[in-house]
Amino acid sequence: MAKLVFLGTAAAGFVGSKRQQSAVYFDGLLLDCGADVIGRLEDLKLAGNLVAILITHLHYDHYGGLFSLLVNLAIKEDVKIKMGAKTKKPKLTIYAPGGLNTILEAIKVTGKVYDFVFDRLDLKFIEVNTSLNFEEAGKKIKPILMDHGKTVDFGYLIETNGFKLFYGGDSSFPSNVQNIRADYLIHEATFQNKYIDAAKASGHSTAKQAAEAATKCGAKKLFLTHVTNVIVPESELELEAKRVFANTVLPNDMQSFELD
Ligand SMILES: [Zn+2]
Ligand SMILES: [Zn+2]
Repeated sequence: MAKLVFLGTAAAGFVGSKRQQSAVYFDGLLLDCGADVIGRLEDLKLAGNLVAILITHLHYDHYGGLFSLLVNLAIKEDVKIKMGAKTKKPKLTIYAPGGLNTILEAIKVTGKVYDFVFDRLDLKFIEVNTSLNFEEAGKKIKPILMDHGKTVDFGYLIETNGFKLFYGGDSSFPSNVQNIRADYLIHEATFQNKYIDAAKASGHSTAKQAAEAATKCGAKKLFLTHVTNVIVPESELELEAKRVFANTVLPNDMQSFELD
């Protein structure tokens, strides 16, 4: 059994206390890192379990929580050291498309607070490409290039305990999700299908397209995410997908599932 927790399920600009920006916890991995994800990880006592962070793309709603998360982990480590504890620097590897390191380095030079983040944590940044297959938290991980307009977006196909989970980040459909096999699919559903042209134009998908993606990749369960529930009643999004793929769920933030 592996624990899957939806920490943030809102699209950019549609956040509130009910739904926050994109982040999913999966058994030691953090898939995207939207704003304020650290608060939710702390509430669930999961922050200390993180081994790697996999960022799909460099739109702010998918990595904007990274800085506060790193500072939080570093402060905890700093406090332990000041109290005299002998600790080993916690290791954390961050995978992202090219450009994240530049952003972090820029922040590092503008504020001293980041000096100790890099001192207190054993951080590693890895630029993702499609030929990079890697292992983290005992799982085999393969990046899949998606289609998010002009922005490079890598989904992550994660194999563990005899099943595969795919998280695609933001993407229009059709996409490379059709060329993979996954037991569990987490797919964005930013629009209702009546706005299919707007979805395509902005590099996003509709709930119906997410369901079609689940059928194509042979999934047994579909999780919808990245929803704009301020405008669209979320029950309509879920119903739209269920008409094509019955085993669909639109999780609430903080809702968890045990996968096997
Ligand atoms: Zn987004
Ligand atoms: Zn995006």
